[in-house]
Amino acid sequence: MTSPATTRDPFLIAVEQFDKAVKYLDISPWTAEVMRHPHRELTVYFPVEMEDGRLEVFTGYRVHHSTILGPTKGGIRYHPAVNLNEVRALAMWMTWKCAVAGLPYGGAKGGVIVDPKQLSLRELERLTRRYATEISVLMSPLGDIPAPDVNTNPQVMAWIMDTYSMHRGYSVLGVVTGKPIEVGGSLGRFDATGRGVMFTARESLQKLGMKPSQTTAVVQGFGNVGSVSALLLHELGCKIIGVSDVSGGFYNPDGLNPNELLKHWRIHSVLAGYPKAEKITNAELLELKCDLLVPAAMENQLTADNAGRVNARLIVEGANGPTTPEADEVFRQRDILVVPDVLANAGGVIVSYFEWVQGLQSFFWDEQEINRRLERLMVTNFERVWAVAQAKQVDMRTAAYILAIERVARAAELRGLYP
Ligand code: NAD
Repeated sequence: MTSPATTRDPFLIAVEQFDKAVKYLDISPWTAEVMRHPHRELTVYFPVEMEDGRLEVFTGYRVHHSTILGPTKGGIRYHPAVNLNEVRALAMWMTWKCAVAGLPYGGAKGGVIVDPKQLSLRELERLTRRYATEISVLMSPLGDIPAPDVNTNPQVMAWIMDTYSMHRGYSVLGVVTGKPIEVGGSLGRFDATGRGVMFTARESLQKLGMKPSQTTAVVQGFGNVGSVSALLLHELGCKIIGVSDVSGGFYNPDGLNPNELLKHWRIHSVLAGYPKAEKITNAELLELKCDLLVPAAMENQLTADNAGRVNARLIVEGANGPTTPEADEVFRQRDILVVPDVLANAGGVIVSYFEWVQGLQSFFWDEQEINRRLERLMVTNFERVWAVAQAKQVDMRTAAYILAIERVARAAELRGLYP
């Protein structure tokens, strides 16, 4: 893992990335200044009754970065390292992600400082229901629609939907996405982020003149995004030679079978103990010689410290914010193509948008329809960003930001300044 010395404040990184792109745009300095700030932020401290009868006070956040293009959208993270600047960065990245994807949403994010693995199921449910109640002053189907992120899942989304619905007196499907299918979730949503990563990797490989069947891939993180990315890249024909989770890295130069890894994970809840691989550290995993590297865990994984030793031709960001600006610069000099988070992991929010539309209309689509629409959007957006990168001779992250900022700025200027 990266040392704390190289772990940078994600919000400062988000603003630095914004400033790098805004130089290419002809937008008013005032519009840019507004976009550098979150729109609104909520911090909540709330008690939860623990199994032994004690009350524990938890801290949670919900940040809206922009409401220019529509209601805000963004996941909820449960993690001991959650902090306000991380949530701000994640909210800002959601604004650009939604704008690149052409969705009628602004960016938001939420989080609670907690290690959910230390909680019983009932404690997790009570924490979720209370947090949902606390943020319901900001959350609503037409105002702010949360979704899963690190350590939250469809069950957590079901509790949020139920809590909000209990307060209203009727079922409100559109208040949250990433729900189980049985309570208004969308077919294809669980796999959507990883599927989008696979489409993006496929298109990028094609641009580089590489064939999936001759591609070796390494995936960091084996949660929702990492495991589905590994499975679908394997189906595409890539050889997965390394994967990792919090318990460390697993390497097999002859190829790992993600289906078997998933079976092991379902039994043990971690990859630790997987027998058909050599055990390595997460730091070693990121430096394995491979064609494609998919960071799909947390921020700040590829930094000034290790970027010079990364041994991949292509990096497709499944996680949000895995690469620091310093590492981006090293990759540019080393001719390693980086496909940024705001483009590569947008599959989740795209199918969340489909789920929201289906929920609002109470009219549900089949999975083929969803995957077909997802593929079309991912490929079109990839091509648009690629074209901007070529035209302006910038990296893919700056190109994606240019597209996104331009869309939000144009809408902001058309809406005008209130009052
Ligand atoms: P998750 O909780 O399902 O999985 C996270 C995985 O990362 C787990 O396997 C965990 O063990 C591993 N991990 C955590 N810390 C690690 C570390 N230090 N080193 C190696 N592995 C580590 O979370 P997720 O939903 O898959 O999210 C992963 C990333 O993708 C996050 O950056 C998230 O913001 C981003 N993302 C998620 C979605 C989504 O739809 N879930 C959409 C877009 C982006």
